[in-house]
Amino acid sequence: MGSSENNNNKEEVHVLLVAFSAQGHINPLLRLGKSLRSRGLHVSLATTDTLYHRVFKYTTNGGDSSTVPTSITTNGIEVFFFNDGFQTDGERAADVDKYMEGIAKYGPINVSNIIKTHFLDSSKKLACIINNPFVPWVADVAAEFNIPCACFWIQPSALFAIYYSFYNNLNTFPTLTDPNISVKLPGLPLLETQDLPSFVLPTNPFGTFPKILSSVFKGLEKLKWVFINSFYELEKDVIDSMSQVFPIATVGPVVPPSLLGGDEDSDVGIEMWKPEDSCIEWLNQKPDSSVIYISFGSLTVLSSEQKDSIAEALKKSHHPFLWVIKEENKELPLPKEFLEETKDRGMVIPWCPQTKVLAHPAVACFLTHCGWNSMLEAITAGKPMIGYPKWTDQPTNAKLITDVFHTGVRLKQDSDGFVPCEEVEKAIEQVLERPSSEEFKKNAEELKRAGREAVTEGGSSDRNIQSFVDEILGNKPIDH
Ligand code: UDP
Repeated sequence: MGSSENNNNKEEVHVLLVAFSAQGHINPLLRLGKSLRSRGLHVSLATTDTLYHRVFKYTTNGGDSSTVPTSITTNGIEVFFFNDGFQTDGERAADVDKYMEGIAKYGPINVSNIIKTHFLDSSKKLACIINNPFVPWVADVAAEFNIPCACFWIQPSALFAIYYSFYNNLNTFPTLTDPNISVKLPGLPLLETQDLPSFVLPTNPFGTFPKILSSVFKGLEKLKWVFINSFYELEKDVIDSMSQVFPIATVGPVVPPSLLGGDEDSDVGIEMWKPEDSCIEWLNQKPDSSVIYISFGSLTVLSSEQKDSIAEALKKSHHPFLWVIKEENKELPLPKEFLEETKDRGMVIPWCPQTKVLAHPAVACFLTHCGWNSMLEAITAGKPMIGYPKWTDQPTNAKLITDVFHTGVRLKQDSDGFVPCEEVEKAIEQVLERPSSEEFKKNAEELKRAGREAVTEGGSSDRNIQSFVDEILGNKPIDH
């Protein structure tokens, strides 16, 4: 194992992580940071003030938000805050394109200042800056200081391969005049329009995200390393083919340690919403492999009709269910009659401790929007999935469930994205009752085992992390 004291000058070797303040972006970086720390590096994170307002002012400052401190230290990682040009979450949520532009405008100067003030010190060597794909300007800031930059890609390798092909014009993708083109990429099943990430489709209404992705993929030469939150055994074929054209290194599954057989209290992830722990007590009362867990992540809002059709299918299935409906997203509540009729076997809450829920023996399957964090958590918990993808990487992630991982099914949506009750009923049967359910369970168990192995000493991801650490510490590689 390397040590920051090993290098000749006895400088501290530092790595700076940079992300914007979304739970699903910060947590994988903090968890990767913890792994780097345990291998001898000094690790800091720079993110926007939002994280202070949403999380740390309560844990460190009794709720006082009048002044944002320059930094705080959490679990040995110093967290620096910078301004993104906005004052309130309301302003940020009002226009996502403006929000992303604000970060791209104020981020570079603010992160440069953090580097100048805190890292240009003779006792420290800032050996690498690691960003994630939504703050690509970080690579330019790193270049200004002549510091190598890495990107921690927080989606599957499949998505990296698709965007790589799209932004380098290596394949034909759907267009307005030809919207139904299928795309065949090495190492991936044939991707129809409905399987492609929404940002490459001509129907995508968001200007900023494709712009950001384009700057990542057109600026790959600025990155010395690309780390992926996935593991080799999960996406072997696409990783093998991608690695022939661009080096990528899987370092995952980067999930809370409890999902990998570790200690629950050792997690360094932050929580932007308070989970309702009472659901664990409720799950304790349910038979093993009986409960359908339903959540669409932090952003997706379902229409009332869609919720009604899922509710109807749950009512008919007679399975117990735990359903997260985020109040903050101003969704209409489920109908009172449904809640009354299912009160003996259903629980509906605004936010749950998802990793504990997925790991619970009572949970049989996960009806998910296919956010990558949620999917990796389900994979490491060994749970089959029913995919109901909406946008961004989710449609491709759902394709991976059915055609690569073979751990579940995907709900068939009509042209408006609506899924009728019968379709949900059929999916529940396939995943929980029909002979196919045994196959899904077996495959899910196998991936759970492979995921744990990848991050244990000598596993595929562990080796990739260690060789990065050795490289930046200047350690000689060990011959095996
Ligand atoms: N999550 C949670 N409680 C819930 C629902 C979700 O803690 O009730 C967490 C979940 O464990 C995951 C994250 O929220 O880590 C969602 O991230 P994901 O990438 O799946 O979706 P997003 O919210 O970014 O769409």
